[in-house]
Amino acid sequence: MKTFAIRAARCASRSRPVANRFMLGALLALALPLPIAASRAQSAIECAQCAEWNAPQRPFRLHGNTYWVGTHGLGAILITSPEGHVLIDGGLPQSAPLIRASIESLGFRMRDVKLILNSHAHYDHAGGIAELQRASGARVMASPWSAAVMRSGRSQPGDPQFSIAFGYAAVANVATFTFEDTLRVGPTAVVPHATPGHTPGGTTWTWRACDGTRCLDFVYADSETPVSADDFLFTKNTTYPSVIADFERGYATLARLSCDVLVTPHPGASSLWDRVSPSDGAIGAGLVDREACKRYAASARRALEARVAKERGRATP
Ligand SMILES: [Zn+2]
Repeated sequence: MKTFAIRAARCASRSRPVANRFMLGALLALALPLPIAASRAQSAIECAQCAEWNAPQRPFRLHGNTYWVGTHGLGAILITSPEGHVLIDGGLPQSAPLIRASIESLGFRMRDVKLILNSHAHYDHAGGIAELQRASGARVMASPWSAAVMRSGRSQPGDPQFSIAFGYAAVANVATFTFEDTLRVGPTAVVPHATPGHTPGGTTWTWRACDGTRCLDFVYADSETPVSADDFLFTKNTTYPSVIADFERGYATLARLSCDVLVTPHPGASSLWDRVSPSDGAIGAGLVDREACKRYAASARRALEARVAKERGRATP
């Protein structure tokens, strides 16, 4: 198994190129016409659910070195270590300042965030990443399909929501990983698993968090909902013909993962607030549930079956 590692020493030695990049950016901003320079600013996305998704949430520790730093309706997970931190997901563009404030209110520094990762490249999970990368100087890594979207800030054909997906600030530098390769920041090891279907690049993340000798296997499982624009059919399309087989592959992956704690990009999809008190972050007994990933996959399969039946003009099974 190949691994990708970010070590503190390597990050420190990157300070010069980062400084040069910002200097270049400043020069370009001066030289470019105003609309392009202004497009660097994070503009809030207005959508029907955006305000509800972006409701503030006090950050809290889930277990060991793993913290919720997302909003009340959108996941963002911080995995800390003395040699740098990993952040998974950046919410909406307007979530970025809330995520940053959550990280800092826990006593961590943005510049110690060394690696930013993503579940899938829709505006509500990747929209804040450009700003969070600027605030931290972190490396951003994504699956090849998601990386192409994040580099442009525009979804790509193949996305079932292509024609309705909001654009967002493009991420300046996005490296790609290979699924199942371990990514490391100091002692932290996270593994990306392919769970495509909701988008072709959907990624589920796993890692182990320990509190003393009590270690738990975390799964940050990507969205599995068969949501699409009206012009996309899961049963018949030319842009993502393998979508149903991809979903099935993802369900099988989710069902086989070692899964003590399931967390999802939309916390309601895994009933997070039934398991953790949103007011004080108190962890309930239900946080650990070894069957949660299997149930999540099974319910996603039922939703896809219902969607397929509807497209074929049959009653929901
Ligand atoms: Zn999505």
